[in-house]
Amino acid sequence: MEGLTKEELGKLAAQMDAEKLRIRAIAGTADSPVVAPTQREHLDDGEVADEKTVQRQSDAMLKHYRMQLADLDAAQSRMRRGQYGVCIDCQQAIPFSRLQAYPTAMRCTPCQNLHEQLHPRQAQASRRPASAGLSSPGWLTRS
Ligand SMILES: [Zn+2]
Repeated sequence: MEGLTKEELGKLAAQMDAEKLRIRAIAGTADSPVVAPTQREHLDDGEVADEKTVQRQSDAMLKHYRMQLADLDAAQSRMRRGQYGVCIDCQQAIPFSRLQAYPTAMRCTPCQNLHEQLHPRQAQASRRPASAGLSSPGWLTRS
């Protein structure tokens, strides 16, 4: 099987480690989420409702981060088993350049495009690179 060199694998492994650290720094771990429990005492009804919305969004964000961590874990475990970088659909090697952009990619580009056509709803979440959603989700900046 043609595929990644040891050096390329090493780079991708380091990239995924860094990504995991970055996500953990932002989102915390499942045991100790960074998003603190909010204080409820001094809020009137309007603020409580608002806070619930924020809480829901935080939950969605944490879920999103956890999914990314799970993807990274899965990719790293594929790496340990020597199955990393192989398209799950056509069994061809996934190009290094694609893996650099999407370290958790499980499909080569043609198969991913096909997959997204067949499953447009899933595609939305997986199309973004892992880093895109992290920097500043628009809803976090609302005042
Ligand atoms: Zn493929």
